[in-house]
Amino acid sequence: MATTDDSVNGLTEYCDDCDLQTLHEVSVQIRTESVKQENAQFSREPYRVSECQRCGNRTSQRMNNA
Ligand SMILES: [Zn+2]
Repeated sequence: MATTDDSVNGLTEYCDDCDLQTLHEVSVQIRTESVKQENAQFSREPYRVSECQRCGNRTSQRMNNA
């Protein structure tokens, strides 16, 4: 993972709830997802989480759509 960006990004993005462009706080979360139960294998997927600073609505988006 070469993308280390520990600054909190304040971005202006469109918010569905507000129905306008608002300031969002964007962060990256690693979520662990179970892939196969039989060998207890887990895959860690980075998600981009943006939180509207106006209404608090959160949207998360999987980052690697390979
Ligand atoms: Zn909003």
